[in-house]
Amino acid sequence: MTLAHFTANIEHSFLTTRVRAEHCRARSVRGERLTLPIAKLSFWGVRGSTPTVDPSTWRYGGNTPCLELITPDGTQFILDCGTGLRMLGNRGAASGTGNSSETHIFVTHYHWDHIQGIPFFAPLYVENNEFHFYSFRSKFLGRESLKQVFEAQMAVPYFPVDLSAMSAKRKFKEVSGDDSFTVGENKITAKWLNHPQGCLGFRIDTPAGTVVYATDNEPGDEKLDKTLRELAQGADIFINDAQYTPEQLAGSRRGWGHSSWQEGVRVAREVGAKTLVLFHHDPDSTDRMVDSLLRQAREEFDSVFAASEGMVITLGAPGERVEAHMPESRTALRREAQFRARVCGLTDGGHAFEEETVVTDLSLQGARISLRHNPRLQSELRVTMETPGVNGAQTMELHGYVVRIDAGKEKGKTAVGVVFTD
Ligand SMILES: [Zn+2]
Ligand SMILES: [Zn+2]
Repeated sequence: MTLAHFTANIEHSFLTTRVRAEHCRARSVRGERLTLPIAKLSFWGVRGSTPTVDPSTWRYGGNTPCLELITPDGTQFILDCGTGLRMLGNRGAASGTGNSSETHIFVTHYHWDHIQGIPFFAPLYVENNEFHFYSFRSKFLGRESLKQVFEAQMAVPYFPVDLSAMSAKRKFKEVSGDDSFTVGENKITAKWLNHPQGCLGFRIDTPAGTVVYATDNEPGDEKLDKTLRELAQGADIFINDAQYTPEQLAGSRRGWGHSSWQEGVRVAREVGAKTLVLFHHDPDSTDRMVDSLLRQAREEFDSVFAASEGMVITLGAPGERVEAHMPESRTALRREAQFRARVCGLTDGGHAFEEETVVTDLSLQGARISLRHNPRLQSELRVTMETPGVNGAQTMELHGYVVRIDAGKEKGKTAVGVVFTD
């Protein structure tokens, strides 16, 4: 018996369970917002260098860097404007929360993967919106570097729409390494990182905890290694470049401006960071390869996650355990895109046909399982299933990774989303 036969049998109940879980979740999320003073960090793009769309990278995600941090005072920060920014913008439009809001956007540097989402960020085309952009003065661009990036990106013949169509208010502020300032109740600190043509790391101290975003950084420069440690000192969440393996970093990729999980663990230990997030995955790293980097990092440091598109980390009062989860909304998007399908084509006999169907082979990739135990997000899981067959009961053993964890429908149970890797 193949996995395809088995999943065809469970497909119907699988879908029904997920839909019900979404309703429950929506209510509890609204409740949380009203009562708990938390900071919420969302990962909208985690891939480095260039976006990837091949299926072997979809579990961690293919969009380039973009993070969103909502602090307890309600301030919205965006870190980097990679291709993940487009989905963030669409979320705002869909929920109706994107109007007349003020957003603070930090751009670490001007490499494509950190700016490419700007022309596709819908809220920039809404008149009442106001954006505060922060970035450094590049010696290659001069004054108002980021403003020039906007103009260059939207110049003919690179983009079909003129910059004048961007009707939102845009304010540009130059920051430099060692700058420190406040936005609302939050303190922002910027430090230089070691990267070709320069890059800034950002530390955001919020009343709920401290997030440090240090991507596009290569170890080995004594002075900048020191400033990275100052930036990351005691962070609750330390997001660090982990593009290469330690072997690549010591060999062919030296000088390319990136780091490894091993360096991240080293810095996290030295500065007493509570949670390390491996970030800026190489476009050539498949999900299996990222799994392997994460596994190695977890052998050496207790609290490590590999940044994954859609992952949300909530920060409570300082000292509380960090939690990470995948929100239902992203699953819903994926489910609609990947499970329900309309198929148009030509029959054997040359006739056009159109049919609504359920694409079962995509469900080969995962399942949702109700457990009494609470497995760790991104940990490995083995699932053995038993099913009646023509020749009696048969079992199938599958290996997978936990990609999401939610409160189960039954008391004391957890609903666990698993993606199978083989
Ligand atoms: Zn980058
Ligand atoms: Zn870069």
